[in-house]
Amino acid sequence: MNPRGDSRPLHAFQACALGQTMRSLRAALWAELAARSSCSPQMSWLPVADSSASRGSARRSRSVNLVSEALYSEAMAEALAQARACLDHGDVPVGAVVLGPDGAVVSRGRNRRELDNDPTAHAEIVALREAATAAGSWRLTDHTLVVTLEPCAMCAGATVSARIGTLVYAAADLKAGAVQSLYNIPGDARLNHAVDIVDGVMAAEAGELLRTFFDDQR
Ligand SMILES: [Zn+2]
Repeated sequence: MNPRGDSRPLHAFQACALGQTMRSLRAALWAELAARSSCSPQMSWLPVADSSASRGSARRSRSVNLVSEALYSEAMAEALAQARACLDHGDVPVGAVVLGPDGAVVSRGRNRRELDNDPTAHAEIVALREAATAAGSWRLTDHTLVVTLEPCAMCAGATVSARIGTLVYAAADLKAGAVQSLYNIPGDARLNHAVDIVDGVMAAEAGELLRTFFDDQR
């Protein structure tokens, strides 16, 4: 069992001294980012759809700077790898990872609807379930959900139910998105939990993957 809590083999880099230093630095940067979460926003992620700020009232309280940009992009790259794995079983390529309070990846998930014949097997649900198992709690406070596509109503609801602290997503889903496009579930003040939102992280890559998939379906 490796430090991530699973059985995947350790990469040689992770075992070396430089790897240790990088992980320590990464943890320190993540702690600083978490400490800033109560600050007022400094700038939103770029690119962000022009209309996103005017839609609903999703909280955007994370101050996104070069540090958080790098951390979120690193996590999104892992989510995109999960999305690409969907192509092996004919599912729409959507991937997700959950980050623990220290910013380390604690779970991964990808869309498995076709593979499992399960209408609820969206990437976010798969990743949230695994994260809750790893945490030993359904409450994923101070965790971050990173996903390649704006969550649907089911997954946005699950994000609130899991008490996720921050939701980071890549491409907007204008037809089914329930974070900013059609609904604003994570930011709905009538609910008992609000989620910080960061959108547009590696949106071009995620969008291109989806476009290619649907083009090939025709
Ligand atoms: Zn979903």
